[in-house]
Amino acid sequence: MTLKTRAAIVTGSTSGIGLAMAKALAAEGADIMINGFGDAAAIETERAGIEKDFGVKALYSAADMTKPDEIRGMVKDAESKFGHVDILINNAGIQHVEPIETFPIATWDMIIAINLSAAFHAIAAAIPGMKTRKWGRIISTASAHSLVASPFKSAYVTAKHGIAGLTKTAALELATSGVTVNCISPGYVWTPLVEKQIPDTMKARNMTRDQVINDVILAAQPTKQFVTAEQVASLAVYLCSDAAAQITGANLSIDGGWTAA
Ligand code: NAD
Repeated sequence: MTLKTRAAIVTGSTSGIGLAMAKALAAEGADIMINGFGDAAAIETERAGIEKDFGVKALYSAADMTKPDEIRGMVKDAESKFGHVDILINNAGIQHVEPIETFPIATWDMIIAINLSAAFHAIAAAIPGMKTRKWGRIISTASAHSLVASPFKSAYVTAKHGIAGLTKTAALELATSGVTVNCISPGYVWTPLVEKQIPDTMKARNMTRDQVINDVILAAQPTKQFVTAEQVASLAVYLCSDAAAQITGANLSIDGGWTAA
C-alpha cells in the first residue's frame, strides 16, 4: 500500500485503460476520483466497487473533457473533497479514422480538445496544490502515436504528439518542485476505443475485420500481442512510487516493440 496518503484523479476512467489505472491506484491505497461518460448505474457500480474492494474513498466527476471550466472545476472539487490532489492522470481520449480531406472539422476540434487541451487545463489546475505540498505525479496516457504516425488518424496523432511536448514542458517547469510529469505510450490495448475504430478502418482501407486486426493492428506490434490495460496501469503505479522520483519529462513506451521498428 504505497499510496495510502495520496488522492488521485483519473480522467476517462469509466472504461478501458483509465478504469484499470483507477483500480490499480486504489489497490495501492489511493483515494480516487473517476471520470468519464457511460451508463449512470454502471458508473455507480464501478465507483462503489472501488470503495468496497480497496477500502478507499472513490468519487465520480461527470466533467466533460471538452469543457475547460468543467475540467478545472473537477480538480477544485477533488481538492475540496479529498483535501488534496497528489496524482493526476490525463487519460480520456477518443479516436476517429478518416482521410484528412474528408475528416470532419467538428471531430478534429473534439479530438484536440479531449486528447490534448483537457490535459493542459487539468495540469494547470492541479499544479498550485502540488507545488504547495511539494509532491505530485502527473501522468498522461499518450500513445505510440505520440512517436510515430499512421495514416487516417490525423487529429489523434497530432494530439498525442502534443501530449509528449506538453509533458516535457511541464516537467521542466516543475523540475525543482517535487512534481514529476511523464507520459505513457501504449501500443494497441484491447479496449472499446480500439474495437470502435475497426469498422472505420475496414472502410478506409477496404479490408475485412480479421484483416484489420491482423494486418493493421497487430502488424504494428512485433510481439503480435495486445498490451493489456493492467500492464499500462502497473507502469502508472510505478511512476507514482518514490522509486520513480527522478523520472520526469519521459515518454515511456509499452508497445510490444512497435516504435523500435
Ligand atoms: P476507452 O474508450 O475504453 O475509454 C475512454 C474513456 O474516456 C472513457 O471513460 C470515456 O467515457 C472517456 N471520455 C471520452 N470522451 C470524454 C469526454 N468528453 N469527457 C470525459 N471523458 C470522456 O478507451 P481506452 O482505450 O481505454 O483509451 C484511454 C486512453 O488511452 C486514451 O487517451 C487513448 O488515446 C489511449 N490509448 C489507447 C490505446 C488503445 O489501444 N486502446 C493505445 C494507446 C493509447
